[in-house]
Amino acid sequence: MKLAAQILQTVFGYDAFRPPQDQIIETVIAGGDALVLMPTGGGKSLCYQIPALARPGCGVVISPLIALMQDQVNALRQLGVRASFLNSTLDPGQAMQVEADLARGELDLLYIAPERLTQERTLTLLEGTAVALFAIDEAHCVSQWGHDFRADYLQLTLLHERFPTIPRIALTATADERTRAEIIQRLDLGNAQRFIAGFDRPNIRYRIALKHNARQQLLRFLKDEHPHDAGIVYCLSRKKTEDTALWLQQQGFNALPYHAGLDSRIRADYQARFLREESVVMVATVAFGMGIDKPDVRFVAHLDMPKTVESYYQETGRAGRDGAPANAWMVYGLQDVIKLRQMLDNSEGSEEHKRAEQHRLNAMLGLCEITSCRRQSLLKYFDEDLPEPCGNCDTCLEPVATWDGTEAARKALSVVYRTGQRFGVNHLVDVLRGSEGERILQYDHQKLPTWGVGKDLDNNQWRSVFRQLVARGYLRVDMERFGALCLEEKCRALLRGDEAIQLRKDAPRKAAKQQTRNVLPDDIDVALWEALREQRRTLAEDQGVPPYVIFHDRTLQEMCVNMPRSPQEFGRLTGVGERKLGKYGEAFIDVIERHLAAVG
Ligand code: ADP
Ligand code: ZN
Repeated sequence: MKLAAQILQTVFGYDAFRPPQDQIIETVIAGGDALVLMPTGGGKSLCYQIPALARPGCGVVISPLIALMQDQVNALRQLGVRASFLNSTLDPGQAMQVEADLARGELDLLYIAPERLTQERTLTLLEGTAVALFAIDEAHCVSQWGHDFRADYLQLTLLHERFPTIPRIALTATADERTRAEIIQRLDLGNAQRFIAGFDRPNIRYRIALKHNARQQLLRFLKDEHPHDAGIVYCLSRKKTEDTALWLQQQGFNALPYHAGLDSRIRADYQARFLREESVVMVATVAFGMGIDKPDVRFVAHLDMPKTVESYYQETGRAGRDGAPANAWMVYGLQDVIKLRQMLDNSEGSEEHKRAEQHRLNAMLGLCEITSCRRQSLLKYFDEDLPEPCGNCDTCLEPVATWDGTEAARKALSVVYRTGQRFGVNHLVDVLRGSEGERILQYDHQKLPTWGVGKDLDNNQWRSVFRQLVARGYLRVDMERFGALCLEEKCRALLRGDEAIQLRKDAPRKAAKQQTRNVLPDDIDVALWEALREQRRTLAEDQGVPPYVIFHDRTLQEMCVNMPRSPQEFGRLTGVGERKLGKYGEAFIDVIERHLAAVG
């Protein structure tokens, strides 16, 4: 382990491991298999990079994310690590060069796409070289239930068959119990040590607000809190990503759309811009994001609700990998529930599968409607207990008022029943409010005993009641009948008067402006910060790499605070290893000296 600690220091410039990194690294260096579950930003890469450097031979990293390999390799080369990749973006000559380097034992790390690895030619090549380890990144891609499923991953069992003595480490940020079992089974990892790091991402602030005018809400959020930051806005449909991106451009934001229907060259180009420029807002479907290891994504916004808590956690987890404050922001409404129900009903799959999906959707709804700490609830979903409310989510920061909704809920359920469980929410609200509209008269609904019994609440309040009844499983949306609400078994006790229900009081539309959050600590000199960023930008452009590959924001911040003037001092900064000290130390020390001279 002394060697591992030394590599951490001299190559990566970090002082200490984040547990359980040390245990994982020890296991793999000793030749054992490992299954690693760690949240995004937890530091999974070091878990195989350091053993690859410590063990003889080349570490082979299997990753589904071809577009990112170049950046990963660039970042490693910056540290002086001999890294390369093999995938379909290389021409035959380049690929041969990489293979020759590998055969000569001149590589520390090789990133490879699964379809490439499983070719007989590649396997034979690997059999003839010293392999330090196999790292299977994004291991949840073996799961046929997940939306990241990759058929090529199923063939990875052959690693164990062809290379029985070489340690394997499988890593993922998303795996519920079922996916975990699937990974172990499909990758033949029964004997692997399991390492499950806590799921909490304390630097992410979770907020879920009611949707009324989503675009305006988004605009205010961006203007108030992230006018110059990089972030992701998730939408459900391809068209919506394009429309929203265009609209944000008109509002002056550096916004780009991203979805699986765009030409692959355009996608690659936009992704590169997101990584290289410092303030791109990517408006995307879920096709964007897996493995995007841009550390300084400052916010993830959802204009549509994700289907499951796993997806929500995974998508929001792309914010703030560098540990600095970041926002997870979402707006949602009844319409989201109806749309997701519809997609679910129209999807392929067995009844059992649909039921399981429904169950997961309900858990997501529960998270939206909860009145206690969101983080506690989120972690509980992953079987983790947070003893105290977090103090960094909307429900903690602005406690939600509740009201006794028992009477209202009974009226709502009863109007559903009396109208034959055939009508959608708008009509039901009309009946309760005593409307004399055309459709009411057409069905003779003005004669029902529930007609007009709900004049005490306005339209929005009733919609809120229905939304919460659906979210909590008292009502179901029947898509075969165009969004009609139907009673669920669960509502009996409530209807009989055996049960009371507390409902969420929806915040008024003009919610108090949340305190603006800034990544920069208050006491740092903005002029110096900007000068250091400029230096970083120049160096990055010269080499065609993203700025964070030179140094992370955190390292720049430490420069502002410590103002190192000598190479020794500079080498003590987080993220400065030997290689980067030699390569960049002088350039940044110069900036600091010039700044100090200018301010006298
Ligand atoms: P993951 O792959 O789990 O999402 P990464 O491996 O990209 O996370 O690591 C996230 C960030 O944390 C990176 O910027 C990485 O350099 C940093 N990091 C990882 N381990 C440590 C450590 N022991 N000390 C300081 N920073 C670390
Ligand atoms: Zn909280």
